[in-house]
Amino acid sequence: MSNDVHPKVKNTAPVFALDGTVYVGGCGVVSNIEDPDGSVHYVLALADGTRTPTEIHTAMAARFPHLTREEIEEALSAFDAYGFLEDGARTSDGVLDDYSLRRWDRNLWFFEAYAALANDKYSMQRRLQDIRIALLGVGGLGSHLLYDLAAAGVQDIRIVDFDTIDLSNLNRQIIYNEADIGLPKTEVAQRRIKAFSPRMKVEAVQARIGSGEDVRRLVEDRDLVIAVVDRPTMSIANWVNAGCVAAGVRFLAGGVETKRAIYYGVVPGETGCVECWRRHVAETDPVSAALLDEKRRLGFEGDNAAFGPLVTVLTGCILAEVVRIATGISPPVASGRLMELTFDDFSICEAETWSRQPDCPVCASAATPPSGSVG
Ligand SMILES: [Zn+2]
Repeated sequence: MSNDVHPKVKNTAPVFALDGTVYVGGCGVVSNIEDPDGSVHYVLALADGTRTPTEIHTAMAARFPHLTREEIEEALSAFDAYGFLEDGARTSDGVLDDYSLRRWDRNLWFFEAYAALANDKYSMQRRLQDIRIALLGVGGLGSHLLYDLAAAGVQDIRIVDFDTIDLSNLNRQIIYNEADIGLPKTEVAQRRIKAFSPRMKVEAVQARIGSGEDVRRLVEDRDLVIAVVDRPTMSIANWVNAGCVAAGVRFLAGGVETKRAIYYGVVPGETGCVECWRRHVAETDPVSAALLDEKRRLGFEGDNAAFGPLVTVLTGCILAEVVRIATGISPPVASGRLMELTFDDFSICEAETWSRQPDCPVCASAATPPSGSVG
């Protein structure tokens, strides 16, 4: 352990002692550590962000002279692994300015729960602010996501849509007003978001996606793509998949289907892509594969249901996945997996999973991306 760190018990891990046991609790989980002589409680009390490991050892020696520097360090390393500690010497200098500290103060309190001696909360917020996103579609899901991404601190986004605002959109697309009816969605969404978060770079592209090549051009300078476009139903997933794989950019996709909401993620070169998924279904589930072929033959365009609660919850699921990907605080849950939630009980579960097919015509030659977060 470096002696430059100043171990500090997090505010999210309050410490209590009772009858020879120390309890460290927070976020619904309480750890208990046997502490008959009070040394555990004392070392945690000394870890208040003002002392190095050596200084904690020196202060401990007055009451517990038999404890060695190595034993103190072992205990601190264990507390760090349990998620109790952050580095009290780390500041926001060079990472976040005063505006960011104030605007995203409540995010920082959240990220503190994931901080450690070697991983500070300010850098987590910074990574979220640095990620460059392409949002394909600013309809039901996209218009919610745009507001939520801006609120979370994302600072660079390209929004793409061809549509204009219709009265029937307003049962869920709450970024728009009745006075906006007939106007292009990208134009109004850009204006609303610039008012909400003036520092944010919002590039509006009013265009209809018609091929994988269209997608590739729209996403090649991005770190992450969120595809929440639903028309044309039988082609758009293929185009998003082909364009993102060609550009080497990971994507999240999602949508609502009457009573259920779904989302999934693809990491080119790492997880299976949409074509791998389709091949997997053809091999393992011939009825679903035949049904898909029949829908394609009939030019199936899906249904027109789009209900607010499913849109809102799915938006939260996708936003959480963006935060996991950008910050690395927790592994993504939807990479190579179709996650599903249903209106009747709102349980979220894995509906399907698939792996990369070595002979996939779309992604077989995709380069393996660098590991770690993308932000
Ligand atoms: Zn593939």
